[in-house]
Amino acid sequence: MTAIIHCLHVWRHYLIGKSFVVKTDNVAASYFASQSKLSTKQARWQDFLAEFDMTIEYRPGRHNAVVDALSRKRQLAALEEEEDQATRSRSQVQMSEEMQNKIKESVETDTLVQNIVKHIKEGKTRKFFLRDGFLFFGNRLYVPKSSGLKSHLLKECHDSPWAGHPGRHRSLALLERGLFWEKMQEDVEECVHTCIICQQDKSDTQRQGALLQPLPIPERPWMSVSMDFITQLPQVHGYNGIMVVVDHFSKYVVFVPIKIPCEAERTAELFFKNIVKYWGIPLSIVSDRDPRFTGRFWTTLFKLVRTELLMSSSYHPQTDGQTERINALLEDYLRHYVTVDQKN
Ligand SMILES: [Zn+2]
Repeated sequence: MTAIIHCLHVWRHYLIGKSFVVKTDNVAASYFASQSKLSTKQARWQDFLAEFDMTIEYRPGRHNAVVDALSRKRQLAALEEEEDQATRSRSQVQMSEEMQNKIKESVETDTLVQNIVKHIKEGKTRKFFLRDGFLFFGNRLYVPKSSGLKSHLLKECHDSPWAGHPGRHRSLALLERGLFWEKMQEDVEECVHTCIICQQDKSDTQRQGALLQPLPIPERPWMSVSMDFITQLPQVHGYNGIMVVVDHFSKYVVFVPIKIPCEAERTAELFFKNIVKYWGIPLSIVSDRDPRFTGRFWTTLFKLVRTELLMSSSYHPQTDGQTERINALLEDYLRHYVTVDQKN
């Protein structure tokens, strides 16, 4: 029944709203719907099953031979076992005589291996077994630590032209085909991560970042400023936003309460009243506003200073860390002094 519930969870989007038949070789499961006494878990299941339009049909196991062959684990199938043994002997043959001798030697001397061998003899483990002086874990040859072959085998399955510097998954898969040692995965990961050839040659899938374009460094205060708006604040005295202007040179900050939406013309007026009046027109303004806004902003500002000259004030359509940092600071600051309902 757990299997049925699991499958329904996985394929819910395919099955919902359709009528379907669940075939099972479990007799008890086929009576689930008509069961009168339910445990808490079964009650939960039945609640979940209620949304499906399904019937459970019992099919005895003996009629189901083909399905079994397809779904049972291959390690358990007798037919596959023989094939595994064939591959095992093949992988053994591929190893050089020298390596085989090394492994055999270390099997005899390694204390850990001797411990395992002791367990095998006492019948305490079924995962390991001895054959022809080699220790096997399942169908994989055990490589003892003391043999010193690990790095050699790692190299074989990663560095050799036969392997071709694959990633960690493939390297591990190649090793796992016939070999076993503890923490093999960690060793493979370390090997791949530290492989100098992989570092140099593998293409980077991430997009390369563009070069940083730093703003010109101002020579005096109020030569270059940045301007930003904090919006979506609760309304207080008719204002619901703050214009933040930061001087690049001195980091002096001016906060101006504004009404959102704040038109370019109005912004220019406020800028004139709060900045230009005290420190003159800056040479450049950094802001993340769109060009139309800034165009109107400049025109209005020049109208206010009553000049016909087109001043060469530049405008950087970037947002800069400076104002964003100040914004965060100001928001933090305000948060300390507002009531919970943000009405003051
Ligand atoms: Zn590599």
